[in-house]
Amino acid sequence: MRSAVVHHDARRAGYPNEPFFTGHACAHSSILKAMIRSLLRRVFSRGSAKPKVISFSSHGISREGISPCARRVVEALQSNGYKAFVVGGAVRDLLLGKQPNDFDLATDAHPEQVRSAFRRSRIIGRRFRLVHCMCGSETIEVATYRRGHDPEQPSEGKDESHTDEHGRLLRDNVYGTQPDDAARRDFTINALFYDPSTQEIIDYHNGVADLKKKRLRMIGDPAVRYREDPVRMLRAVRFAASYGLEIEKATLAPIRPFASLLANVPPARLFDEMLKLLLSGHATQCVMRLRREGLHHGLLPLLDVILEQPLGERFVMLALNNTDVRVLEGKPVSPGFLFAALLWHEVLATSKKLRDGGMAAMPALFLAMDQVLDTQTAQLAIPRRFTTDMKDLWALQHRLENRTGKRPFRVLEHPRFRAAYDFLQLRCDSGELEAELGDWWRRFQQATPTERETMLLRDSEPKRSRRRRKRPAESGSASAVQADASM
Ligand code: ATP
Ligand code: MG
Repeated sequence: MRSAVVHHDARRAGYPNEPFFTGHACAHSSILKAMIRSLLRRVFSRGSAKPKVISFSSHGISREGISPCARRVVEALQSNGYKAFVVGGAVRDLLLGKQPNDFDLATDAHPEQVRSAFRRSRIIGRRFRLVHCMCGSETIEVATYRRGHDPEQPSEGKDESHTDEHGRLLRDNVYGTQPDDAARRDFTINALFYDPSTQEIIDYHNGVADLKKKRLRMIGDPAVRYREDPVRMLRAVRFAASYGLEIEKATLAPIRPFASLLANVPPARLFDEMLKLLLSGHATQCVMRLRREGLHHGLLPLLDVILEQPLGERFVMLALNNTDVRVLEGKPVSPGFLFAALLWHEVLATSKKLRDGGMAAMPALFLAMDQVLDTQTAQLAIPRRFTTDMKDLWALQHRLENRTGKRPFRVLEHPRFRAAYDFLQLRCDSGELEAELGDWWRRFQQATPTERETMLLRDSEPKRSRRRRKRPAESGSASAVQADASM
């Protein structure tokens, strides 16, 4: 009788496969421990059903900080009797005193109900339906509360497996309550709901306190959450590096051993996340952190090789640093330029191997470009519009090294000349080429047509550009203008 009660409780505590209670004291205590562990984990992962409600007087975020369009959509939903909140990154950014990139809303209204509450809107997505609400050129994304997969609950349908064999989440399209919606989010600081009408923050997981303490903490069991979605590891690194947060011990611990899980993430998703990271304005910090956590293997499989070569490392760091400066100054940056820089030393090494095998310089360069891109895009789906830019940039490098005859005039006319020149300058700054070549091109651009004729090298003149002999100038030179927005 007693055993039956314990067994029943063990099931309720989320241990459906717990062996029957044997009556043995040791088994009894281990079941009890398991129940307590399970209970604690559930409380931890679900957060409190009663959230903290933080008033304007303690957080200081006024509704004026919310975009007018987001406020209009919230008002429309609330006046139709629904709950509606600004959620996620926007609340986090406002608390950090940063301007949010965008404002996402969470509501208890279903997509059709959102549609009828706010007419200028459309439903998007098939698997999980979201609503885009439009005011002029601004679009606000509205999502109905969802609940994540509870790993301790068996899946409902026969074939409805929620995760793949690595634990990666395949479905998360089940509607839920507000606490469910908070619990399915990744980090505590990303699970805050802000109501513009009351100016209150609803906080189920102590996200506001974590943000104050500069602490990044995963909601729930970090190992399970990374298995569900390995991209969360990249997000952890990005948020920590971008906002100067410390990754809490338990949140950090699984990252290194789980790095290989990134191989199961669809390449297009990995690219999107990588792009966010590189364009965060803190790319240098992020890449250093990725390397520290052993995550860069999964992203750009050859990046670790590059980062171990002094010239490659210097080049990549200069490119990242220039990108960060531009992003923080609000200037446009070109992903094609950045990826071309990240992979340049790999192209160089591959083409050298081909030349050593007897291939001529140009065919070797072109074959190397294809080989490097093939290897990389298997893991990271770099869109074609970027790979086209990258190839242009790489191919133009060869042409910029030739300063004889009509060639420099033709290169100057090339639509990608400016970006290619910035790239060349970066190569000079990193010490791969002598500064003289970059200087020559700077002067050549500024020169009159007659001066240009006198600057040309004769065919027989030795190419002095290859390999530096003296220490290059420190960063901050002309290459800071690198990512020509036209790329
Ligand atoms: P940013 O837009 O600055 O990159 P963000 O936190 O807003 O940061 P988004 O990708 O816009 O990131 O996601 C919006 C919200 O959705 C997040 O704040 C988080 O609550 C949730 N979210 C995003 N990605 C995940 C994920 N992989 N796992 C769980 N929740 C996620
Ligand atoms: Mg966002």
